[in-house]
This record gives sequence, C-alpha cells and structure tokens, in this order.
Amino acid sequence: MYRLVMFDMDGVLFDSMPMHAKAWSRTFEGTGLDYEESKVYLYEGMTASAYVAMLFNIGENDPRCREICARKSEILKSLPEPVAMPGAFEALAAVKETGVPAIVVTGSAHTHMLEKLSRAYPGLLKTEWMVSALDVKRGKPNPDPYLAGAKKAGVDPCDAIVVENAPMGVHAAHAAGCRVIAVNTGPLPDSSLLDEGADFLFHSMKELSENIGKIIEMSSELL
Ligand code: MG
Repeated sequence: MYRLVMFDMDGVLFDSMPMHAKAWSRTFEGTGLDYEESKVYLYEGMTASAYVAMLFNIGENDPRCREICARKSEILKSLPEPVAMPGAFEALAAVKETGVPAIVVTGSAHTHMLEKLSRAYPGLLKTEWMVSALDVKRGKPNPDPYLAGAKKAGVDPCDAIVVENAPMGVHAAHAAGCRVIAVNTGPLPDSSLLDEGADFLFHSMKELSENIGKIIEMSSELL
C-alpha cells in the first residue's frame, strides 16, 4: 500500500516555525498590517508569496509582494539557524529500515534550508525527488505539491503517506489522495489537523519514530 513517505520540512524535520513566526512579525512591522503571530501557524504551508498576497490583498506578482518576501527571507537568514526536530532523524531511519523511500515536500523556497536537509539527514532522503516552492505554481493547501512528489517518485498518490504538522499541509495531502500522519508540533489544537483529514495523529517526531515502522508494515499486510 505505502510505496512512498513524503515529509513536510518546517515544523517536521526542522524546528523552524518559531524562526518563521519571528521573521514574519519583524517583516510586517511598520506596514500598518493588523497582524498576529498565530497566523503563521494557521496558514503554514502556503508559499511566502501566496501568504503575503492574501494578507495584503494584492497579487502575487505585485512588486510589493516580491519586496516583502525578499525582506522576510533576509530577516530569516539573520536569525539563528533552526535545529533538526528532535526525533526526526530516528523517524527517517525507521522509514529507511522498511525499504520505503522518503522524500521532502515543502512550501519553502529557502535554498539554504533545502541544502541543510542533506547535511542533517545524510542518506535518509531521496533528495532528487524533493519538491519545493520552486517546483509548483500552486502551493499547499492545493494538492499540487504532494501530487508533484508522488509523480517524481513514480508512485500513485493513494500509495503514499504524508507526514505533516500544519492544517493546510494536511488538507493538501488529503486532497491529493494520500494517507496523512499529522504530528502536532505547534500551538494549534489537534482538531485543526484532524478536521482537515489526518488519518493518524502524534504529538512529537519522537512518538512518530516509534510508530511509523508499524504503520508502514500494517499497510503491507493489508495488500
Ligand atoms: Mg510544516
């Protein structure tokens, strides 16, 4: 049944969401935007340009949108680099043991983070099948990123399982026809993930690492 595991990056493989939250808040200072930091978790998974376009009610091709995204990217780079999410290495190692390939599907376009993946998780990810914001026109909550990941891997989306921490990411994976494991690593209630169609729910990557092997094995018994 599962022939591919697709991992989201921010809030799943890297403990990066607090940095994104800080960077966005600083970016919006002085813009007059009525902004609350919690929005970053609600809309996590969207590409930066889609997020800014939505908040300011402007087009993604509007020069202001590009300028704001560039500023956010600069601010993010000036903050300390996020660390690997505790338990993520073990979770990827558990997937590797099953023989099922693991890839990353992210709304991020931060190339320095994408490069950091290979250093943090050497040999555990099929980096050539990775999908970032640069690969799709429509980001999460549209199914496109997960459809693109499955396509790159040559796997039917129904045969893939996704690991996500964000409601919009769960929505995207569910809409793509994949099974979804939600790992709630942020401040939102569990219902925000279950309501979008999560099939399994854990509260840490460590907890996931102890169960993902069983979930994959169970699926092969169903064949
Ligand atoms: Mg995420």
